[in-house]
Amino acid sequence: MGRVYNFSAGPAVLPEEVLKEAAEEMLDYKGTGMSVMEMSHRSKAYDTIIKEAEQDLRDLMNIPDNYKVLFLQGGASQQFAAVPMNLMKNKVADYIITGQWAKKAYQEAQKYGKANAIASSEDETFSYIPDCQDLPISEDADYVYICENNTIYGTKFKTLPNTKGKILVSDVSSCFLSEPVDVSKYGIIYGGVQKNIGPAGVVIAIIREDLITDDVLEGTPTMLKYKTQADNDSLYNTPPCYGIYICGKVFKWIKKMGGLEVMKQKNEDKAKVLYDFLDQSNMFKGTVRKEDRSLMNVPFVTGDADLDAKFVAEAKAAGFENLKGHRSVGGMRASIYNAMPKEGVEKLVTFMKKFEEENTK
Ligand SMILES: *Cc1c(COP(=O)(O)O)cnc(C)c1O
Repeated sequence: MGRVYNFSAGPAVLPEEVLKEAAEEMLDYKGTGMSVMEMSHRSKAYDTIIKEAEQDLRDLMNIPDNYKVLFLQGGASQQFAAVPMNLMKNKVADYIITGQWAKKAYQEAQKYGKANAIASSEDETFSYIPDCQDLPISEDADYVYICENNTIYGTKFKTLPNTKGKILVSDVSSCFLSEPVDVSKYGIIYGGVQKNIGPAGVVIAIIREDLITDDVLEGTPTMLKYKTQADNDSLYNTPPCYGIYICGKVFKWIKKMGGLEVMKQKNEDKAKVLYDFLDQSNMFKGTVRKEDRSLMNVPFVTGDADLDAKFVAEAKAAGFENLKGHRSVGGMRASIYNAMPKEGVEKLVTFMKKFEEENTK
């Protein structure tokens, strides 16, 4: 069987070129006679891999010199605790709740201090991004937290909240490297890589240097203290070596494609194919407010659970995998990350049209 069109929300599709290259290097990485999986993380060969990965990411995102790039473990979810442990000096933080991941981060932060939900779109099943230009930011807030692209609900912040001078922390797991960002607007940008960059097991955190200190909450584990990781260039202990190596290859792939401006253009073109179809279909409907639509995750429904299930099953049989919506929303969701070719989305739309014709009386 050949490769399918994989619309999984994560772990998700990776560029075929990258997978082939990794396969070629599997048994003998560049004449070392071993796989990257078998290599000491202190070896010269590995040192080059992780340093190049960092440099390529810095080039892609234009990361200012006063930001550290950390390659960490524990998933994005581990950062739900690490962020308050490292940043809550006043033990106060403001959270904007735009979905399940933001809510989980907010709930975790409550273990460490006073986490305030200063805005939420839960009243309408997280189908929109609240207006965040004049929020009741707490005077002593250590930071303001957002989940920038809501993987489950398919919304994205198109403008960043006005934090009124407070540090902005953003979970970008599902929009990492999908378009250019101005890193200098954030205190911390972090994301698990398994959505848009690489294999599960790596989290990348880009942190402004002045936020990396010894002044962390009492009891913060050594491993969760950003300073431990920063002082050791992400090599305090054994990092997720193979995952970082694949991330590095994906960075080079994006560079070769022309960088994040080009990526954004491609992602907009690709998403438009699907959204345009949804907007004119009599059967399929997008579930979120148009101006807040994500370029990466596109949830849609027919309005009939049986018909949804039929669609997912027939799509699977036709080579379109993982279109079932998140268990908390139902319906369908097409995740169309960087590595999903436009052709995959076009073919999906052709399939949806045919399904609509066949199932309309
Ligand atoms: C998937 C996801 C997470 C959770 O990631 P883990 O690596 O499984 O902990 C958190 N935030 C967002 C936005 C996600 O998409």
